[in-house]
Amino acid sequence: MKNKEHKYIFVLGGVMSGVGKGVVTSSIGLLLQQKGYPVNLVKVDPYLNVDAGTMNPTEHGEVFVLRSGLETDQDMGNYERFLGRDLTNEDYMTSGMVYQSVIARERSLEYGGKCVEAIPHVRDEILSRFVAAATYNGSFISVIEIGGTVGDFQNELFIEAARVIKMEHPDNVLFVMVSYLPMPGTLGEMKTKPTQTAVRDLNSYGVQPDFIIARSKEALDEKRKEKLSVSCSVNKDRVISAPDIKSIYEAPLNFERDGLSDQLLEALKLPEKRHASLSAWGRFAKAVSNEKAPEVSIAIVGKYFDTGDFVLSDAYLSVIESIKFSAAKLGKRAKISWVNSKHFEKGKSTASLSKFDGVIVPGGFGEAGIEGKIKAIKFVREHKIPYLGICYGMQLMVIEYARHVLGLKDANTAEIKKTAKHLIVDVMLEQKQHLIEAKYGGTMRLGVYPAYLKKGTMARKAYKKEIIEERHRHRYEINPAYVKKIEDAGLIFSGTSPDGVLMEIAELKKSDHPFMIGTQFHPELQARPLAPHPLFTEFIKAATVRKGKKH
Ligand code: GLN
Repeated sequence: MKNKEHKYIFVLGGVMSGVGKGVVTSSIGLLLQQKGYPVNLVKVDPYLNVDAGTMNPTEHGEVFVLRSGLETDQDMGNYERFLGRDLTNEDYMTSGMVYQSVIARERSLEYGGKCVEAIPHVRDEILSRFVAAATYNGSFISVIEIGGTVGDFQNELFIEAARVIKMEHPDNVLFVMVSYLPMPGTLGEMKTKPTQTAVRDLNSYGVQPDFIIARSKEALDEKRKEKLSVSCSVNKDRVISAPDIKSIYEAPLNFERDGLSDQLLEALKLPEKRHASLSAWGRFAKAVSNEKAPEVSIAIVGKYFDTGDFVLSDAYLSVIESIKFSAAKLGKRAKISWVNSKHFEKGKSTASLSKFDGVIVPGGFGEAGIEGKIKAIKFVREHKIPYLGICYGMQLMVIEYARHVLGLKDANTAEIKKTAKHLIVDVMLEQKQHLIEAKYGGTMRLGVYPAYLKKGTMARKAYKKEIIEERHRHRYEINPAYVKKIEDAGLIFSGTSPDGVLMEIAELKKSDHPFMIGTQFHPELQARPLAPHPLFTEFIKAATVRKGKKH
């Protein structure tokens, strides 16, 4: 380890997945940061995909794109939102990345003729990535979430690497186990046994948890705290109760009430640099789950709707959170409804969209549900319903305009119909080769690019500046050959790449529509609880105005 002082907190899951390791990791990060320590948060995804970009969002949740362009897991989005800052490539790793490096080294004879093995070679690659995350990010404490649960085949080597760091630097490493206490309806009491078993499983790797975060329906009572403490050999003050909460943003406040950050610092033998101030966060957390705030109803029109709302909230996580942040800032509560665009193709009337105060068409890929989305966009344009189109939602907004205002009937995107007469949206030049060679992983236009905003436009007014930087994830672009024609017909490209070639934002004149904006980038990736995104805020404002008029 280069920096002998660096501290590591490993967050592991016991009993079952999906109980909030990511929220625990994010909360620990926020609390320690508030105590004055530079923190970085690291996500380990044990699957073999090299990044999250090739995975279906309805199966694995949204793909969160870092500033650098790396396509990562949705947990990285929560980390950034809790810390209020950008994370880097070193903060994310998958088994795929680890193996890819090891195999590349083997192919170039860097192991000097040795037999390459899981231990030590793969483990050491993981170790060096943990150290890189600690070194390159200028942090003092790394909080590393190891995906999956204890006992999974896939994460064993990561736990083994963590054990080795602990063995070498016993005072600098903590293990936090996030566990779950089920409460079977027939018994009506919380059961500690699965947690005890999970701790024993972890012990079999040579690892003992220093903290147990006990997730459960209700708060842990003293009796169960004691039981867990004694049976799992964890100090009672370090068994932390984590009952279900209304919003994930309450988690750090609850943990702080249990003294978690003081306990962590004590365990790491670190002094408190300053008292953790959570007042701004507390105000936000209260506002975001204020059920009495006036409601604005927002429809998200998309195609992934055969899977159930639960899955959808993961697939569009950052969009939903961005809506919530802006609504909270404006003292409103957003009620989000999912609208299946395929139904508009099967004859359902788009007039049903009138009941909403605002409509979003988020990012997407492929053909399914596209004509339905275009119908929805036509309706909101003609009926002056506030609209925010993100990526695909912007491309389709421009196609709709070309079809129905310019009269270019078969206007389309090359993603769907390469032979269309009017390819309003075409594949970007550098993308053509990737598609021919079927090189899909990590090849889109990804990450942060600057855009210039035109004076006097809604976009410029919202951002209050001329140059912005936003994160991208797309292969197609507005075809430059049509830009002038479209602008002459009344649509404004209010944001462009610095060379003026790529259209980054499209909008309708305020005199034509109260709020109709589409962005080629994903604004939702940079919205933060304490710094909501200006475009979402303006969108919610416009939705509020519409609501006021309806009544
Ligand atoms: N499918 C479109 C493209 O690749 C839009 C991508 C997106 O919405 N993220 O350009």
